[in-house]
Amino acid sequence: MNAHWSFVKEVHSFNQLPDDNIPEFIFWGRSNVGKSSLINFLTKKKIAKTSRTPGRTRSMVIFEYKNLFRIIDLPGYGFSKISKEKVLQLDKLIDKYLRKRINLKKIFLLIDSRHLLKSIDKTIIDLLHQISKKEIILVFTKKDKIKSLELLKEHQLQIGNIKKDLNKIIFNTSIKESNEIILLKKFLFNSVKD
Ligand code: GDP
Repeated sequence: MNAHWSFVKEVHSFNQLPDDNIPEFIFWGRSNVGKSSLINFLTKKKIAKTSRTPGRTRSMVIFEYKNLFRIIDLPGYGFSKISKEKVLQLDKLIDKYLRKRINLKKIFLLIDSRHLLKSIDKTIIDLLHQISKKEIILVFTKKDKIKSLELLKEHQLQIGNIKKDLNKIIFNTSIKESNEIILLKKFLFNSVKD
């Protein structure tokens, strides 16, 4: 499986993006949410660098599965002190990508299970609804960090509410267990045909 994944390139401007029709899927979330770890787990490869200095990279990193589809790894948000409303305005490349890139199929938004939806995540979801019609899938990460049964129950309750309120598909993942990530992977592969 992992031999089929490759690093394509890192892009800093819209016109550096590949010029073809291969479907693309964004992976995004707050800095430190576990995005690189999840991408590495999905691809069974140390393809995305983990624990990069938060907020440092302002570029998109592109990975590709055969010639079938791509994962676009966006820089994490929520690290710098810029106002939440300006997150996208400041990042012209992401803004343009979301508005104009026809290859984009779906957006996987990663959320830390311990913090659930922070106000910046809600802002990002609102912005995404405004500028892109693409489906947003919520991927909760680091589920293993919720230790007590009591907290886990509370957590499930809150996730149930989020699912109802936002009407989104949700995955509850941890890189310590493969079951849910396998489901996520199946969903991703099936989405290529949508
Ligand atoms: P990124 O900044 O979103 O790419 O986050 P990273 O993938 O670099 O992860 C940030 C930190 O969280 C690292 O120390 C990871 O080892 C840790 N981490 C990521 N996913 C998990 C998880 O599912 N469980 C646990 N316990 N730690 C995780």
